[in-house]
Parts: sequence; structure tokens; C-alpha cells
Amino acid sequence: MSKTLQAIRGMNDILPEQTPLWRYFESTVASLLDGYGYRQMRMPIVEATELFKRSIGEVTDIVEKEMYTFDDRNGDSLTLRPEGTASCVRAVLEHGITGGGQVQKLWYIGPMFRHERPQKGRYRQFHQIGVEVFNLDGPDIDAELIIMTWRLWGLLGIRPALTLELNSLGSSAARANYREALVEFLSARLNQLDEDSKRRLATNPLRILDSKVPETQALLIDAPKLVDHLDDDSVTHFAGLTARLDAAGIPYVLNPKLVRGLDYYGKTVFEWVTDQLGAQGTVCAGGRYDGLVEQMGGKPTAGVGFAMGIERLVLLLEALEQVPAALARQVDVYFCALGAPAELAALVLAERLRDQLPNLRLQVNAGAGSFKSQFKKADKSGALFALILAEDELAQQTVALKPLRGNGEQQHISWTALAEQLAACLQA
Ligand code: ATP
Ligand code: MG
Repeated sequence: MSKTLQAIRGMNDILPEQTPLWRYFESTVASLLDGYGYRQMRMPIVEATELFKRSIGEVTDIVEKEMYTFDDRNGDSLTLRPEGTASCVRAVLEHGITGGGQVQKLWYIGPMFRHERPQKGRYRQFHQIGVEVFNLDGPDIDAELIIMTWRLWGLLGIRPALTLELNSLGSSAARANYREALVEFLSARLNQLDEDSKRRLATNPLRILDSKVPETQALLIDAPKLVDHLDDDSVTHFAGLTARLDAAGIPYVLNPKLVRGLDYYGKTVFEWVTDQLGAQGTVCAGGRYDGLVEQMGGKPTAGVGFAMGIERLVLLLEALEQVPAALARQVDVYFCALGAPAELAALVLAERLRDQLPNLRLQVNAGAGSFKSQFKKADKSGALFALILAEDELAQQTVALKPLRGNGEQQHISWTALAEQLAACLQA
């Protein structure tokens, strides 16, 4: 026998037991975003490799070691998207929908691909919902994005487990200033730095701030601080954001070491983190990227956005036991028929029920089987009621309605009254 094939490591099947929770999460987010006037975009999963190199930055972890890049049959270098912002910026530029200062509030959902070490909460194909806003440069929109996510955590019942971390990265000039001061400080202590940080000192020194190495963290205690190098405009902008969060009653923690792994951020950056998921604690992260559109060949255009990891949020819903009980039941009514003529009548009746009760979740027993085996299946389906049609019912043009949960009585209902009575029973 040949060996059965398996999915690629770090790329998961989402099984039927799990999809109700995913759909609940996704539809909760979608209607929240509808409520704030955000419109959905759908971008391709594959883009030119150049797009990610130019936007995310050549010396970031993602571009240096995490991208799935390949040559297609024409010899063009393509990449499975590691994130959505780059594609979204490409798309708005390509279609000219942010030109002339047009405000766009957009969101997207879909798989992202990064060649990381798979572990709980970290996969090679994972899913994000991302939000991007163009042409609004004030702190009010940064606040709106955070307020929106805060509301989402409330709707999902996971608010108490999440902490908002905030920082300002300042203007690119302020960052350049700070980078110089940081490099000077760390260069004088080169022999105390870990290998990764040594390498980053030349390529991306700000990333050293979120090094996980304790010795490096100890060294950073006395290092120059980004807050002391911020430009006035960024300071005012950040104060505008925190004032709004205070007004909205949203608690936050200032984290001066929050730098984010992508080059395009400036001014506001934020992360929602939890201690319930082990090392993979960031469930949502974002910030402002006012320079990115221009860097990608467009006119100067303010931009701000965030992305949340669906796998991690689904794990959090489970960890906090915030999975709505209603999700356990996917069938309301299970239709059992015995004998070929009854089966035919059941088929016609089931379709009539679907016409009359469009929201009904009705499963018709497929394939023959004794009543006993059909009942077993009905019970296992989680349905609240079974409908039963055999020779007697067929002769009388009725159906037996049998409650499967609790101890209600079985009753016979005429075909003409079935939809109405079934609806009443389901509501009770
Ligand atoms: P991390 O620090 O955990 O690697 P990141 O900064 O690389 O995260 P972003 O690029 O900001 O992550 O992506 C936004 C969100 O997407 C993260 O907060 C996380 O919830 C999720 N995410 C990122 N990478 C993965 C992954 N490999 N597997 C599952 N979820 C992920
Ligand atoms: Mg990462």
C-alpha cells in the first residue's frame, strides 16, 4: 500500500468540529466592521516578490527568512503573501481609490504564509483579519481602530484576558536620530550582545529592543530611549490618542520597547496581548504607516491599520470557555423515513419546509436503515426534533414529530400544518 499523503507542516485543516467557531468569530468581526463603515477588499494570495521586499523591508525577519518565494513558469519571482498591508496598498494604488485624498476604510480576511517554526499559535499558513485606513492622519482614527477592537473583545467575552500595549515610533527623522544614539550605545558594549543582536546592529538596530535574550534586555535598561528622541508632532499625536482612549475608558500600558517587526511603521504602534496562550501572546497588532504609500510609488498618503490572528483568537475563545453553547448544535430537525414511498414523500415535504422556513436547519436521513439506526443518527446529530414518516403516516398524510431532548410527547401533525407547528415547537 502506498503511503498516504499529509498536509504541509504548519498548514492545518480546519475540521467540521472547528468551523462553527471560526464562522462565529468571522461573522462577529464582519458585522462589527460593517457597523463602523469599513468595506471589504479581497486581494490575491500571491504577489510579486518585489512588493513585499519593498514594503516590509529587506532586513526584516519576514523578508529575510520567512517568505514562501518561488519562480513561476514564466520565471517571475512570486511570493505567497506573508501579510496583507502590502497587497492592500498595492491594490488601492493600482485602482486609484486613494487618489485625491479619498478616505478609504478597508478590511480583508484570508490566509497568510510564513516559514516559521510551527508550534501552538504559530503556523506556516495562518489566517488574519486586517483593517487599513487611508488618508486620515489624526489620532482620532488610531483611536477608532483600537476602540473597535476593544468592542470586539467585549462581544466575544475575552476582554479581561487582553492588555493593550502602546508606543510611538515617531517620525522617520526622529527614528533615524534615535537609531544613531542606540547604535552608539550598543557598539560600545558589543561584546555583551547576543549574536542575533550583533547582526541587527548593522541592519535593523531598533529590532534589538524586542530581543528575547535576557542579557541583552539587561543591557538595554540604561540604553537611550526612543521617547526622549520623539519629534513634537509625534508627541502631540500620541497625546491625542491616549486622551481619546482615556475618554473611552480603555486601559493601556505604555511599552517603549514595542517596535513591531515591519519597517513601515511610524508614530502609533500597538498590540493586544494575552498571557493565556503561552509564548504566542499577541492576538492583534498594528500601527501607523504614513510613509508606505509614497514608498510604494504613490502620492504621500496617511495610513494606519492592524491585523489579528484568527487561530490565536479562536484558541483564546476556547481557553476562556467563551464558545457559545448554541454552536454545538448544527441541526434543528432530523427527518427519518421508512420505505421507498415514505422516503419520496419525505423528500417533497422537506423541500416544502425549506421553502416555508428558510432558516431551518433540516437534515434528511440519507440511505435506508432501520428506524433504530436512523434514530441513533438523529440523536447523534444534536437535533432537537425528529420527523418520522412510515407507512401509517403516509396513509394518513401526517408526520410524527418526536422531541429528542427533554421529555416532550410525540405528536402527529398533518402535512399542511407541519411548517407552522414545527416553527412553533422550535421557538418554544
Ligand atoms: P509574532 O510576534 O507573534 O511573530 P508578528 O509581529 O510577526 O507576531 P504581525 O505580522 O503583526 O505578527 O501579524 C499580526 C497578527 O497575526 C499577530 O499578532 C498574530 O496574532 C498573527 N500571526 C502572525 N504570525 C503568525 C503565525 N505564524 N501563526 C499564527 N498567527 C500569526
Ligand atoms: Mg512574527
